[in-house]
Amino acid sequence: MKIVVLKFGGTSVGTIDRIKKVAKIITSYLKKKYKVIVISSAMSGKTNDLIKKSNNISNNFNPEEYDALLASGEQISCALIAGRLNHIGYKSRSWMSWQIPILSEGRHSSSRIIYINKSNIINYLKSGGIPIITGFQGVNNNNRIETLGRGGSDASAIMCAKFFNAKKCIIYTDVEGVYTTDPKILKKAKKIKIISYEEMLEMASLGAKVMQPISIQDARLNRINIDVKSSFINKKGTLITKRKNIIRNRIITGITSTKNDAKVTLVGVRDKPGVAASVFKPLSKNSINVDMVVQNISANGKETDLTFTIKAEDLYKTQKLIKKNMKIRFRSLIVDKKVSKVSIIGVGMITTPGVTYRMFQTLANHGINILVISTSEIKISVLINKKNINKAVKALHKEFKLNN
Ligand code: ADP
Ligand code: ASP
Ligand code: MG
Repeated sequence: MKIVVLKFGGTSVGTIDRIKKVAKIITSYLKKKYKVIVISSAMSGKTNDLIKKSNNISNNFNPEEYDALLASGEQISCALIAGRLNHIGYKSRSWMSWQIPILSEGRHSSSRIIYINKSNIINYLKSGGIPIITGFQGVNNNNRIETLGRGGSDASAIMCAKFFNAKKCIIYTDVEGVYTTDPKILKKAKKIKIISYEEMLEMASLGAKVMQPISIQDARLNRINIDVKSSFINKKGTLITKRKNIIRNRIITGITSTKNDAKVTLVGVRDKPGVAASVFKPLSKNSINVDMVVQNISANGKETDLTFTIKAEDLYKTQKLIKKNMKIRFRSLIVDKKVSKVSIIGVGMITTPGVTYRMFQTLANHGINILVISTSEIKISVLINKKNINKAVKALHKEFKLNN
């Protein structure tokens, strides 16, 4: 069976007119003799609206109910797509994760798909039907609905492509593909024709919302090529694939920025073994992800300052945990929500010396102060004042010749 998995994001199914357009895209693949499996996100704004409702009910909303609530958005869009396909004469129906089932595991709100039972969907495809499957959700072994983290429909699509052994996996979104930086922020951003899993994973993890990071991990593990393209206009998009398939001489492939980081500094903590571990243990137990970390060199050998970044939404909880942590002593706690992480990403930096210097010099030339630095083999991230994000992205985009 020649199967294609098509995933439509929130904006692509955001209005009735958009859904009608999506139905046309779906049927165009039938004409090319594909069996089509569709994954849909909720209509744009729907998931945010449901989150807001849960917050208005309780600031400690039950996690199982939170997932049951959030997953409902996808049920609406899938039923509407199937309804439209029926209207124009095609056999189609919606499938919730529990009806297939798509099994998931992990914490509520950040589960992962572990297995998809193929038989129901294969039989339906054989009967000429077009299954429209809810993205973003799975069912766990307690028969409760779980969601896969924001943007999780991407992961649903990749896992469907894996389990159904699809020939193609196409992510339809509201931009023409993956760009050198967010095209909604920088007009000069350029579409990337082909990008490696490794670079895409870094870009996604560092703020390029266009793909969910976990979906890229899954694609890489399972060697699934992904096409990212627009559902608005029919143009070639971006291919996400293994590094070996790519010949490119650019040093930097993309630039990302984040909007929701916070910086925490513990001033005057004791400089002795185990202190950092004592600070971070309760955070990790509470699923708070610590990102960048710096510890100043102790001037007197007794005290030091420890700075780290977290997601801004975790700031309140982090402050509470630090204040009640009896294992650590410090003089004061300083927090800053007006920070942003700007990163340059590219496999080219492995073989090119001087990239770090060029990045720092460019920021310096524009009067941008660097607060914290972190690096990996293929990325350099710096924390800067939020007000400088656009200036930094623009300057780096030019410096690394991504404008051309
Ligand atoms: P969907 O609803 O289709 O899943 P998302 O909103 O999750 O779409 O992701 C698409 C958005 O990602 C784009 O509208 C764009 O603003 C943003 N984006 C951020 N960085 C990039 C990038 N490097 N390339 C393309 N889009 C990006
Ligand atoms: N609807 C979910 C969200 O907004 C999943 C997705 O869009 O992929 O996060
Ligand atoms: Mg998305």
